Amino acid sequence: MFTFKGQTVVVTGASRGIGRAITDAFLAHGARVIGLYAGNKEAARQCIADNASCKQQLQLHQCDVTDEKEVHSFFQQLENCEERLDILINSAGIRRDAMLAMMKNDDWQSVIDTNLTGTFLMSKGAVPLMMRNRYGRIINITSPVANLGFAGQTNYAASKAGQIAMARSLAKEVAKKNITVNCISPGFIATDFIADLSEKQIKAYKQMVPMKRFGTVEEVANAVLFLASEKAAYISGIVLDVAGGL
Ligand code: NDP
Repeated sequence: MFTFKGQTVVVTGASRGIGRAITDAFLAHGARVIGLYAGNKEAARQCIADNASCKQQLQLHQCDVTDEKEVHSFFQQLENCEERLDILINSAGIRRDAMLAMMKNDDWQSVIDTNLTGTFLMSKGAVPLMMRNRYGRIINITSPVANLGFAGQTNYAASKAGQIAMARSLAKEVAKKNITVNCISPGFIATDFIADLSEKQIKAYKQMVPMKRFGTVEEVANAVLFLASEKAAYISGIVLDVAGGL
């Protein structure tokens, strides 16, 4: 249905979970993928090994999206190689849950830094490259918590709402250059991200979802492929829920 042959995609959080599925999906559809991860070298090695059949198309770099210097030098390298950049997927994310009254300031800050400032720094690096080619797709992986709220997730919800507001504003800034900026909002997706949930919590959360199940990483990746494709050329500034009706 889609082809991304000749296109270059940067995916943050590419080594695990949702970002990994997005990486696999773009590779399967002919794109060249440059993935970033924070520090889990084993997951990065596994991602490379599993995609050995398309190793020419894939590069993984350790790059902390919260670190201005690392992000700057990543984009400089990209420019030096005269890479074009067609698509940026901001999937890197963390959660550090606690009730607000008990939340450590560091846990507030690290979640905002990774989920929101990371999205800002990556988008800031990507936009000039996309403008040069008068083409681009930026997709932020946000969360339904941005609108619904969730006890214990004030930091996470604020960061995810910020990603949406940033996307809507940036969409207006770059529309004339043929660049779209959207968000995908996955519901509960079984990855390491929610591996700390107890059996009891998993059962209760599945009951909350109208479809009575968690989603899969592939279901999120399918939505990403659509918004990143040329077929979605006139869609910008939206949030697409992949959340089983939540
Ligand atoms: P995972 O925990 O499975 O993977 C997180 C990925 O982000 C890893 O590749 C990790 O790298 C990377 N990462 C974390 N911090 C940084 C950083 N500072 N710099 C660069 N990379 C970083 O999470 P998911 O795949 O489940 O989540 C992906 C996104 O989806 C997140 O933004 C999350 O908020 C969102 N989301 C997830 C849902 C879910 O239920 N899973 C639901 C709704 C939204 P490393 O492996 O090196 O640690």
